[in-house]
Amino acid sequence: MVKITSYATRDIRFPTSLDKTGSDAMNVAGDYSAAYCIFYTDAELTGHGLTFTIGRGNEIVRAAIGEFASMVIGKDLDQLTANWGRTWRYLVSDSQIRWIGPEKGVTQLALAAVVNALWDLWGKSLGKPVWRIVADMTPEEVVRCIDFRYITDALTPGEAIALLRENEKGKQERIKEAESNTAVPAYTTSAGWLGYPENKLRSLLQESVQLGYKHFKLKVGGSVEDDRRRLAIAREVIGYDKGNVLMVDANQVWSVPEAIDWMRELAEFKPWFIEEPTSPDDILGHAAIKKALSNTPHGPIGVATGEMCQNRIIFKQLLQAGALTVLQVDACRVGGVNEVLAILLMAKKFGVPIVPHSGGVGLPEYTQHLSTIDYVVVSGKKSLLEAISHLHEHFVHPATIRHGYYVTPTAPGYSAEMKESSLEAFEFPGEEGKSFWRTDEAKGILDAPRVLGLRV
Ligand SMILES: [Mg+2]
Repeated sequence: MVKITSYATRDIRFPTSLDKTGSDAMNVAGDYSAAYCIFYTDAELTGHGLTFTIGRGNEIVRAAIGEFASMVIGKDLDQLTANWGRTWRYLVSDSQIRWIGPEKGVTQLALAAVVNALWDLWGKSLGKPVWRIVADMTPEEVVRCIDFRYITDALTPGEAIALLRENEKGKQERIKEAESNTAVPAYTTSAGWLGYPENKLRSLLQESVQLGYKHFKLKVGGSVEDDRRRLAIAREVIGYDKGNVLMVDANQVWSVPEAIDWMRELAEFKPWFIEEPTSPDDILGHAAIKKALSNTPHGPIGVATGEMCQNRIIFKQLLQAGALTVLQVDACRVGGVNEVLAILLMAKKFGVPIVPHSGGVGLPEYTQHLSTIDYVVVSGKKSLLEAISHLHEHFVHPATIRHGYYVTPTAPGYSAEMKESSLEAFEFPGEEGKSFWRTDEAKGILDAPRVLGLRV
C-alpha cells in the first residue's frame, strides 16, 4: 500500500521563443512551459505530472495545481484508484474551486497535471507503463475510470462496455504490435512553424521526407499570399502523387466565413484537413466550416480541432454536430487520462479517428500512451500521432520515433518525469547561477512586448 504524504509544484519554462519553435498565427512567441506536480509517498515512489502552457500564466496554473493536489494528501493510492471515476468526480467537486471553472480553463489544466501525476504514480507502483495498465483492464474496469456525467446522451456506460467488448477480439495481437513498436505511426510538424524562413521550411521538409514521414503539417493564417507560397514549396518537396499527406493548422485566427474563404484559396494544395480554423468553443461554427469545405473544386477539406477543447462536453457536441473529420484531444487540456478515455470512447462511437495534440513539451511523452490505448483498447485502428523533435532531452524516459513509428513506452509510469537538472536549469524565476531565467539572455524575452502587431 502506498500513501500520498505531500506534494510539490514547480514552474518550468523553456525559452523556445528565441528561435520561433512553436510559432503559429496566434502564438507568435511561445516559451514551451510546464506547470509541474510531484507527489511524494511513504514509499520510495514519486508521481510526476505536468500540464503544458507557453509561458506567462504558468504561475496561475501552478497555484491551481496546489488546490487539487492537496485534496489527495493522506490518501492511499489503492483507495484512489479502486473507483477512479468516483475519485475524478471528487476532485472536480470542491464547489469553491468549481466556481472558477467548472471543468475548464486553468482549473482543468491544473486538474490534468494532478490526475496525470496520480496515473504516473500508479504505473510506477504496478511496474507498468500507463498504456499497459489500461490494456490489462477489463471493459468494466476501463468504464469505472470515467465520470459519465454530462455525456450519457451520447454514450452510456453500458454502450461503452459493449464497444470495448467488441474490441477485446484481437487485443492480444495489438498488444504484440505495441510491443514491437508499430502501434503508433508518427507525423511531423517540425518543419512547418510559421516563423521559420522559407529556406528552412524547404530543407526541413526534405529532411522529413528522407526520414520516412508521410504526413506533413504546416501552420497557416498569416497572409493568403504567404500561405500559398509556403504550401507550393511543401507540395514541390512532398509531391501530389507519392502518397504524402499535407495538413494545415490556423490556430484559431479566423471567424467562420473567413475560414471558409481562406481555405478555398488554399484548396488547390489539397490539404487533408484544416486544424483549428476558429474558436475552439464554436461547435456550430466548426460544423458550418466542415459543410462548406466538403466540396471545393479541388475536393473536400476536412476539419480538425481539439487541442484547446476544454472538456468531454465540448467534444461530445462537436461529434454530435458532425463537425469533425479528426479529433485532436490533448493530454492535459482536459482532466487527465480519465477524461481522455471518455473522449476516445465517444470518438469510437461516432466513427471519428483521433490524432492527439502533441505540439508541446511533455505532450508526446503523454500522447504516446494515449494513442497506444486508443489502438489496443478502444478503436482497434491505428491513428497518427504528431512528432515534435525538440526538448525530449529533458525527460527521464523521452518519447522516441523509429522508422516513422513511436517506440512504445516500457518504463513504468506516464513518462512525463523531467530530469532534476532540467527542472533546476529552467525553473522560473529560478535561482541565480542555476536558472536560465536569471541570465542576460533571458532579459530579451522578459522585456519583450507582450502583444505583437497590435497597439492601443
Ligand atoms: Mg495545432
